[in-house]
Amino acid sequence: MAPLLDVDGLTKRFGALVANDGVSLSVADGEVRGIIGPNGSGKSTFFNTLTGFYRSDGGTVTFDGTDISGWKPYRIAQQGLARTFQIVSPFEDLTVRENLLAVHTPGLRVTKEKGKRADEVLEFLEIDHIADNEASEMSGGQQKLLELARVLMLDPKCILLDEPTAGVNPALQDRILDRLEEMNERGTTFVIVEHDMSLIQRFADSVTVFDQGQVIAEGDFDEVTRETRVREAYLGT
Ligand code: ADP
Ligand code: MG
Repeated sequence: MAPLLDVDGLTKRFGALVANDGVSLSVADGEVRGIIGPNGSGKSTFFNTLTGFYRSDGGTVTFDGTDISGWKPYRIAQQGLARTFQIVSPFEDLTVRENLLAVHTPGLRVTKEKGKRADEVLEFLEIDHIADNEASEMSGGQQKLLELARVLMLDPKCILLDEPTAGVNPALQDRILDRLEEMNERGTTFVIVEHDMSLIQRFADSVTVFDQGQVIAEGDFDEVTRETRVREAYLGT
């Protein structure tokens, strides 16, 4: 079966720096792919380039059978490929629920359906009790949940997560992971950048390792973390 997400030779330069140097990566429908690699190895750039937030300097991105290379971010999201940001930025003056209603969801007709979806998402992520609080009052961990909630408004096929549990307390981390696993069981595909190796080990079916803008290894967690160059690049051992 053709992969759901197929990235071929994606390249992104910042001046002389090649932040993504011909990155190729294929993710099957229903898979959870972990991406690991040292700081500055190009993981966030990869997400930003493949989702149209940065203009690429080469390569192609195919999603669900459609060539989406060069598409604008909102169109890519509407196609079913959504992403979260490493640095979250909710509308702070809006309430939690209003933040969800502010998401542009062309698939949902008018306010009634959108409101219903918002309520479902808030309940699913267990933030319905703070639906009327201003986003600025949320903890950093809760803001990560809000970011995920905004993505869920789009009902995406595939979600790219950039460090979804960084800076989140362990209890909330666990809850986020539970929800992600539940979504995966219902068919959502994930690509997740995360430094927490125990999370990657638990959640990811396979792992891709970045170093200096390139993919240096790929395979299952144990296989990949045994490789000498991965240990050298990332684990420092
Ligand atoms: P990671 O997410 O793996 O930590 P990044 O993708 O954020 O790495 O960064 C990869 C490299 O690209 C780093 O050297 C970083 O400084 C550089 N970089 C990232 N974004 C930009 C940008 N907008 N402008 C210039 N350089 C950038
Ligand atoms: Mg990053």
